[in-house]
Amino acid sequence: MDLTKHVPKRGVLPALKATSKVDVLREMSEALLSGKKKSLRAPVLEQIVSREALESTALGHGIAFPHARVSGLDDLVCAVGVSRKGIDFRSVDEGKVHLLFMMLYPPNKQSAYLNFVAGVVRALHGSDRADELRTAGDASRMLAVLGDGAGETIEAENAALGKKSAIGALEAEGLAGAELFLLARLELYSEMLGGARQGKKALQRKRDDIRALVDRRILQHYDRLKKRGGPALVTFEGGVCQGCSVKLPSQQAQRIRKETKTVATCGHCHRFLYPI
Ligand SMILES: [Zn+2]
Repeated sequence: MDLTKHVPKRGVLPALKATSKVDVLREMSEALLSGKKKSLRAPVLEQIVSREALESTALGHGIAFPHARVSGLDDLVCAVGVSRKGIDFRSVDEGKVHLLFMMLYPPNKQSAYLNFVAGVVRALHGSDRADELRTAGDASRMLAVLGDGAGETIEAENAALGKKSAIGALEAEGLAGAELFLLARLELYSEMLGGARQGKKALQRKRDDIRALVDRRILQHYDRLKKRGGPALVTFEGGVCQGCSVKLPSQQAQRIRKETKTVATCGHCHRFLYPI
């Protein structure tokens, strides 16, 4: 997945000026939406801020993923910002946030969003790219680092996935991360297949390549969910499953956040959950 496809240069901010959480969210969303109507910009900031109030999107290691669903956008867009001083985000590991990925996506592009998140996590994990982004100093260099991180096309990625070494690399992220990545891909292909008028055979082949890599029990559950209709993989935000909108008990929510061995499911609708 080419991450830079979703990162416009105006949204690459190598030296954020803001020093507080709300100001940094404003600075990034304004850069990302510059040129868009004001009637779109104000509600976006409100949505991002209220999402943050619910639960911090800082996932530790100095990185945060603020995001919002935005009606009126055509596609997912992402801003990438660096704060030298660091921003207090109430992170899980209490550290300050230095690297931010702000993602805005239209409500009908959930799969694209999940794939993008999975792509970013995969590009940063087990590499020096987070540090390289932080110290890049200019937008072009940051885009180059991002492109280098996950610049492969889906085709190249699929070819790599077929190799044992690639699977080993995925498993090193923790089994849950690897399976989530594959599930996000499966969701994207099932969505693409649903809307495709041509090239169905090629899409089916790619989907089957991925299916061959997913754990058998996870795949069985995935197929049951798909038979029922709708998405099988949904985000888990602020303790709420975004598939059935049920708030899960806090102990259960904590367990889901800490799960690294397998993909967590919603205790209510049983969909796979992607905590973000
Ligand atoms: Zn649910």
